[in-house]
Amino acid sequence: MSFESFEFDARITAGIAAARYVDPTPIQRDAIPEVLKGRDVLGLAQTGTGKTAAFVLPMLQRLLAGPRGVVRGLIVAPTRELAEQIHGEISTLGRKTGLRSATVYGGVGKNPQVRALRGRAEIIVACPGRLLDHVREGDADLSKVEVLVLDEADHMFDMGFLPDVRRIVQAVPKRSQRLLFSATMPNEIRHLADAVLNDPFTIEIARSRPAATVAHSMVPTSNDRKTDLLRKLLDEVGAGSTLVFTRTKHRAKRLAQQLNRDGFDVAALQGNMSQNARQRALDDFRRGKVQILVATDIAARGIDVSKVSHVMNYDIPDTSDAYTHRLGRTGRAERTGDAFTLLTREDGKQLRQIEQALGEKVERRMVDGFGGEEVPENLASGRVGGAAGRPGGGGRGGNRGGGGSG
Ligand code: AMP
Repeated sequence: MSFESFEFDARITAGIAAARYVDPTPIQRDAIPEVLKGRDVLGLAQTGTGKTAAFVLPMLQRLLAGPRGVVRGLIVAPTRELAEQIHGEISTLGRKTGLRSATVYGGVGKNPQVRALRGRAEIIVACPGRLLDHVREGDADLSKVEVLVLDEADHMFDMGFLPDVRRIVQAVPKRSQRLLFSATMPNEIRHLADAVLNDPFTIEIARSRPAATVAHSMVPTSNDRKTDLLRKLLDEVGAGSTLVFTRTKHRAKRLAQQLNRDGFDVAALQGNMSQNARQRALDDFRRGKVQILVATDIAARGIDVSKVSHVMNYDIPDTSDAYTHRLGRTGRAERTGDAFTLLTREDGKQLRQIEQALGEKVERRMVDGFGGEEVPENLASGRVGGAAGRPGGGGRGGNRGGGGSG
């Protein structure tokens, strides 16, 4: 199946060519015809499936005809990073449509946002809190919204945004088309979907499982050897972009400093940093200026870096959903990626939850001399691989302290 079967306007086909998309992904194949028909959609899909273009493309098509200078498309997203990423995708795919998109989120000036809301943009990509401020202050007229998208609804719930989201939904017309995307479906999201969507077409794409293109494994070790093991893995995987996850902001900051001292090209991405510093870290990582980004789950949510080759869980995530989300950063649409989780004897509970949710054991990879032998048998068992990493991967050592992979 190709994009041609959707019979998009030539201005949108030009955007698809600019993005270099050749064939639609499964969620695009299923969602686009329904959205074009005007139907509400409930999409159960994680980042990396192409879900953004699945709603952006038909939304652009629907908004091509009709008035300009009023807000007609509204996308609500949990984080600024995700909002920027969606805005970027609209800019690429919609470059020939003349439709304008703008972002609205906290931590930056309100005036450009007010101008966008008052006629400079037809599509607004917003985080809930700031958008609601504008609504309360009378700066956002959402009464002309034709298409409303709630993206990563489960994260909005995690972050406590659901009451704000419900207020925003109240401010858009009842007859508007609504699309809701979520990687998981806890009860709260089920209730939200029931309240917001009208007879939705439901699409479920590989729920709560890492993409098939990610090879992932657990590497047993002990707490005091984690950093040394991480250094060894970073050396072994070679050049490429690696995302390292830690449990807390403080650990992200400290680990990044440690790796920096060791000569790795590394930046931290965590919530204590200013918006500017976070954006800089992301941009540097995206451009290959830094090869390693050490991040917390919240800070890394929704970030779209298409070249991530490895994900390393320095700390095991708390839930299987977080595991899937972290792994979703690599092995994106048609790219392959590797993921490693450092596993200590304290991690049994999380490991069990992850393996239960995945419905299978995750491969164990033993690295000699890193304490894996001290991990209890039940954690250490699994299909035991050889040395960690993909041997012969060209060693990152050669790139230490240097420019980057470009
Ligand atoms: P998303 O799930 O929307 O975060 O998209 C994940 C990645 O897949 C992004 O880098 C997109 O640019 C890319 N992508 C989306 N649709 C396609 C497609 N049809 N073909 C190739 N890549 C795509």
